[in-house]
Amino acid sequence: MAITQDAPPAAATFTSTNPVTGEVVGTFAVDGPEAVEAAVARARPAAAWWAGLGFEGREQRLLAFKGHLARQADELCELVRRENGKPLDDAFFEVLVAVDHLDWAARKAAKVLKPRRVPSTLLLANQAASVEYPPVGVVGVIGPWNYPVATPMGSIVYALAAGNAVVFKPSELTPAVGRWLVDAFAELVREQPVLQLVTGFGATGAALCRSGVDKLAFTGSPGTGRKVMAACAERLTPVVLELGGKDVMIVDDDADVGAAADAAVWGGLSNAGQICIAVERVYATAPVYDRFVAEVVARARRVRAGADERAHIGPITLPAQVDTIRRHLDDALARGAHALVGGPESVRPPFVDPVVLVDVPEDALVMQEETFGPLLPVTRVADADEAVERANANPYGLGASVFGRKRARALARSLRAGATSVNSVLSFFGVPSLPFGGVGESGFGRIHGPDGLREFTRPQAITRQRFPLPFALQSFDRPERLIPILKRSMRLRHGRR
Ligand code: NAD
Repeated sequence: MAITQDAPPAAATFTSTNPVTGEVVGTFAVDGPEAVEAAVARARPAAAWWAGLGFEGREQRLLAFKGHLARQADELCELVRRENGKPLDDAFFEVLVAVDHLDWAARKAAKVLKPRRVPSTLLLANQAASVEYPPVGVVGVIGPWNYPVATPMGSIVYALAAGNAVVFKPSELTPAVGRWLVDAFAELVREQPVLQLVTGFGATGAALCRSGVDKLAFTGSPGTGRKVMAACAERLTPVVLELGGKDVMIVDDDADVGAAADAAVWGGLSNAGQICIAVERVYATAPVYDRFVAEVVARARRVRAGADERAHIGPITLPAQVDTIRRHLDDALARGAHALVGGPESVRPPFVDPVVLVDVPEDALVMQEETFGPLLPVTRVADADEAVERANANPYGLGASVFGRKRARALARSLRAGATSVNSVLSFFGVPSLPFGGVGESGFGRIHGPDGLREFTRPQAITRQRFPLPFALQSFDRPERLIPILKRSMRLRHGRR
């Protein structure tokens, strides 16, 4: 669902607007390559200064940032609501998740990344071996609009905690939220521009890819991810790609059907389905299918889209996404699917009310491509094995969920996904010590957790000779008999089975 243009508009500024009212939220520069390169140049000394603070100095400042976010959450949530359209409670959830990640990354960076001794081998027993995790330097972060706080912060705070400076390009739909975050950090860390903002459309993101940053963390659609990777390839800039998903929920024979239905409705419809790890398809086994569908229908009927205080879900933030949702719905109905909740009339831009679909053929668009809207297709399968087979046949592999008892963990393991929740949905995203990322079309690399910290470092190996060996191993002067001895010893140690 790449929506942005590669060429900037003629004007040097653009506005972000409220997706419901059209009210202008802010005016921002369309930063070209020169502005982006200048930001990266400013980030270089900032990165050195920030790295020089050490783990403790950074922890203090990151925890101060966390405290500020927690105290000013209402203001930030209100801005998220104005610019993205989501209900305040949804905005609060993402701020809460971001605060938890910030807290974890700040406190754990030293433990995860401090230099550590590692064992050597018998042959090189005289070498003390250690590994260190220095920061890569300057990290570029490109973010989407659907979770304008939690998603980019998932990269930003781990990159900062690992000792890097960051240049952040938020989505052109949510630059004011990006500005808010960067300004808040700058208020607390005044000495150097450790976290900077660049704004604009796709071309600004492309300029960041080509700017010579030491790593690029991208979150967005697979189509744009490919362009990002191609642009980064020009300078061999390493990338983390956090892309879309077509996440499954599997409901097994022994599942708590009520809990599964509640989770499917929340996981599929909250934030109007505009979640990379939304439940986008459900496979329920034959013994529970009818009960499960009845529970889902009863719950989904109560979910309403709107802009008022009591609405459960907000608008579709990106106007063009409504066309994708309508296309997926029309295609499913044309192929014989039935809508048990909602139908074509549910699409009333900028809102889409929930639609629960059954009897959807597996090759329908809504079963194959990311919908990013509140459509919930539920499919009957003979058993959980069939569900896993169908789940793994899709090229995406971001998140998943399994409801059941006896086989639930085993099913979770057999799914080709970066993360799976058993008997809940989306939970893995909120656990800071877990890595987050996908496989296949969902991307690669990891944010969050120890892996997410290491992602923004360059592991550096060091050996230190503690004493010379009695024979010179790595020398042209080594004794002639040494290689035959080593051959015999290798056969003895490694060649016996
Ligand atoms: P998008 O790919 O259209 O845009 C993402 C960002 O990339 C924006 O900031 C955009 O300006 C920038 N961009 C566009 N063209 C570019 C180019 N050529 N070079 C560099 N940058 C460019 O995605 P979106 O519509 O903003 O976000 C929705 C997508 O993001 C969905 O597919 C969703 O699943 C995915 N997403 C993934 C995660 C995750 O963690 N895996 C989280 C949230 C959203």
